[in-house]
Amino acid sequence: MQELIITGRVHAELLAHSRRQAPAEAVAFLSGTRPDIATDFAPLPNMVAGHGFLVHPRDQFDALMSIRRQGQMLIGTFHSHPEGAPALSDTDMQYLERWKCLHVVASIWQKVERADEIAAFAINGNRWLAVTVRVNY
Ligand SMILES: [Zn+2]
Repeated sequence: MQELIITGRVHAELLAHSRRQAPAEAVAFLSGTRPDIATDFAPLPNMVAGHGFLVHPRDQFDALMSIRRQGQMLIGTFHSHPEGAPALSDTDMQYLERWKCLHVVASIWQKVERADEIAAFAINGNRWLAVTVRVNY
């Protein structure tokens, strides 16, 4: 099974970003110099206030150019599910399937006593596969 390593700092910042944006979903790009290690992330403005996410193409473009300027590659997309399971919804899959990178989802539970969860997925042809996420502190 494929594995994605997220640095402890990026992991903490992703969860903090997700809490700040709640109840809206937080969105970001994950990047690094190796396809399996996310060492940086770029928050993206979510145009949707409630359930779901949409990022303006201009913001996507700017963030991708910034990643390239830093000599990094796009490793994955990230978005949060406030009070929702760390799985891709049908809408997520339809929107994300054109992005040939990993897709990371974080669940932040603020209304129930439950630990934050983070999961990653990859698309292979038209099949979605779970990717093991490891936080490297
Ligand atoms: Zn989603």
